[in-house]
Amino acid sequence: MTISPPAAQSESESKVSALLSRLEEQFTEAGVDSPELDAQLILAVVLGCDRAHLHAHPEKAVPHEAIERVEALAQRRTAREPMAYILGEREFWSMPFLVSPDVLIPRPESELLVERAVALSGYGGESRILDLCAGSGAVGLAVASELPQAQVTLLDLCPKALGAAKRNAEKFGLVSRTRLVVSDLFDALAVGEEFDLIASNPPYVASRELDGLMPEVSSFEPRLALDGGADGMDLIRRIIEKAPACLARGGYLLIEMDPRQMDEAEAVSEEQGSYHSARRHKDLAGRERVLELERA
Ligand code: GLN
Repeated sequence: MTISPPAAQSESESKVSALLSRLEEQFTEAGVDSPELDAQLILAVVLGCDRAHLHAHPEKAVPHEAIERVEALAQRRTAREPMAYILGEREFWSMPFLVSPDVLIPRPESELLVERAVALSGYGGESRILDLCAGSGAVGLAVASELPQAQVTLLDLCPKALGAAKRNAEKFGLVSRTRLVVSDLFDALAVGEEFDLIASNPPYVASRELDGLMPEVSSFEPRLALDGGADGMDLIRRIIEKAPACLARGGYLLIEMDPRQMDEAEAVSEEQGSYHSARRHKDLAGRERVLELERA
C-alpha cells in the first residue's frame, strides 16, 4: 500500500469525500473493524466538526494543514492503535471519559457493573462505594453521577491510571465525592474501613490468551489492566477472599469476569464462607459477565 504525500495530491483528492474514501481504503487494508466510521471520526476531529457536517458537505475542500494532521492520525489507526487513544476519549454510560494509554478503554459490558451498583444502592442512600481496579474511573464515576449522596473511592495499583481517574473526576464535577487511593487491592485501606458496595473490573484475561487478542488490545492497552495470571483469575480470587473484611453486613461485591470463570469464582465465594448469596448477570451479548455476591 502506498500513501501519496500531501504535496502530490490532486485537487479532487483534497475534497472531503475523496479523502474519506482514501482513508477508508487504507483502514480496510490494515484490517480495521469499522473503516468508514473511523475515517469520518478522524476527519471530523481534525476539522472540528461533527460527522453529519461531513455528510452534508462532501465537496468541501480540506485545507492542506488539515490533511497533514489527518494523515498523521490515520497512520496511527493503520497501525491498529485504538480510536479511543487517538481521540483521547471514549463514551461510557453516556459520559465522555478521557482515556490515555495508561488505562483500559471502558467497554460497554462494564456498564452492567454500574447498572447493578445503582440498583443495589438506591438513589437517596449515602452509600460508601469502592471501585477496585478503577483505571480511568469510568465505573465508579458513572455510579457517583447516578447517586448524588454516594461517596466513591477509586482505587488502583497504577498511579498513572489514577491520574486519568482524577482528570475525569474533575471533568464531571465529582471531585468532592471522590477519593483516589493507590493500592494493591485492599492493602492501603485503613483497618476497619467499610464499604456498602464494591464494584470491580479487575484484569481477568489468562496470560497465554493475551497475544491472541485483537492488536488494538494486545499491542496498545496496558497489560497490567488485562493480565489475570495463568487462568486469568489471580485477582478475582484475591478479591473474593479479601473483600468481606471491608464490606458492611448486607453489602455487595460485584465483579466483572469472563463467562468461563463464573463457576470457579462462585466456588471460591462458597469456600470463603462470608457471602450468603450469589447471582450472575448477563451482558448485552447474553453472556454471564458480572457475579454479584452479598455479604452475610
Ligand atoms: N473484557 C476485556 C477484554 O476481553 C478484558 C477486561 C479485563 O481484563 N478487565 O479485552
